[in-house]
Amino acid sequence: MLDKIIIANRGEIALRILRACRELGIKTVAVHSTADYNLKHVLLADESVCIGPPQSQKSYLNMPAIENADFAERVEKSGFTFIGPKADVIRMMGDKVSAINVMKKAGVPCVPGSGGPLGDVPEENFRIARDIGYPVIIKASGGGGGRGMRVVHTDASLLNAIAVTKAEALAAFNNDQVYMEKFLERPRHIEFQVLADNYGNVIHLGERDCSMQRRHQKVVEEAPAPGITAAQREKMGERVVEACKAVGYRSAGTLEFLYQDNEFYFIEMNTRIQVEHPVTEIITGIDLVKAQLLIASGEKLQYTQKDIKLSGHAIECRINAEDAKTFMPSPGPVKLWHAPGGPGIRVDSHIYSGYNVPPHYDSLVAKVIAYGDTRETAIARMRNALAEMVVEGIKTNTALHQEIFTHQAFRTGGQDIHYLERRLGLK
Ligand code: ADP
Repeated sequence: MLDKIIIANRGEIALRILRACRELGIKTVAVHSTADYNLKHVLLADESVCIGPPQSQKSYLNMPAIENADFAERVEKSGFTFIGPKADVIRMMGDKVSAINVMKKAGVPCVPGSGGPLGDVPEENFRIARDIGYPVIIKASGGGGGRGMRVVHTDASLLNAIAVTKAEALAAFNNDQVYMEKFLERPRHIEFQVLADNYGNVIHLGERDCSMQRRHQKVVEEAPAPGITAAQREKMGERVVEACKAVGYRSAGTLEFLYQDNEFYFIEMNTRIQVEHPVTEIITGIDLVKAQLLIASGEKLQYTQKDIKLSGHAIECRINAEDAKTFMPSPGPVKLWHAPGGPGIRVDSHIYSGYNVPPHYDSLVAKVIAYGDTRETAIARMRNALAEMVVEGIKTNTALHQEIFTHQAFRTGGQDIHYLERRLGLK
């Protein structure tokens, strides 16, 4: 078993990791910026080290190279264990073009697209777009966080869109490589969770539906995805597992798909634990963070695919420190925090009364997760929980979540990724 780990993260996920370590008897070192000295996990960790000023580039991301893969490589080269996949696999998946090619080869269905980076020859790019068929989407190979994407409907705006996306990608990701995909008009976002150990054992833990999005950012997630049949799950799950075996994947990971007209199309793989992991934990009964720690400790997966049974339904709301209508960030002192509870409610949050939400980081302050034997029960419990929750001092998007659960269309389930923006009148 690992003896001691550095938690190279902040906020609720750092606290989540700390709790898993405590359960396993692993000692923890919290690294934090000067703005984060009073984060809950920093206060609870066995040791803490201040690593720099508030700006992420000067503290959390302060490395000569800020690539995840390079970080993982340096950790391993220094004789430590990196809790995650091998550096070369992170690198391969971090580049979306290479990830798509690897997945295609492994038999995973992908969105029709350029299959490689776009060059500078206009005629060639027009040809690719016409072959794929408009509308198309130009995406940055190194993109993330929903940024670096542009939809194009006609030849007239293609070249400009490529140029602008390239410039943005260079500025944001230090990589100007872009590629082209068919723009799917009404897809759902459905992703598969995997776990893999060092010995070639890989399992999937079913799917999550993350179609409730604003600006390509997830707002509400749930598992299982409404309407996906056991046969579909088994078929895609098998392909996902085979693909992970083919690339020598290790640790927890997520394969993200767009789903439209009963077909799945791979878009990217996330080589880390994700914000929405709790909904999968709840319906499978498997602690994904603990599993990551055990895998990194060299243990074999404790489950085989047939041990994985999905039970009930779980929904997660991302509570952000932002205005529910304008979405403007709302950092500042939390005057009062009261977390909801009761049957089927889990709250993952690092805030407390008196905590100050710094303006420098992600605005996520809490995740409220509701479980029920049916989706209806999960929704009813979530509505109770949101009504019970008290956050004073900062604004939160709780009212937005409350509204979503009143929508008949949400309650029916299976809405596409544009649904929320359409309903909010943003589209
Ligand atoms: P990121 O790494 O920035 O999250 P993704 O490739 O996962 O980028 O895409 C994020 C979101 O952008 C998707 O969830 C979806 O909403 C939208 N998107 C991406 N590719 C397409 C596509 N080909 N057609 C339609 N929407 C897309």
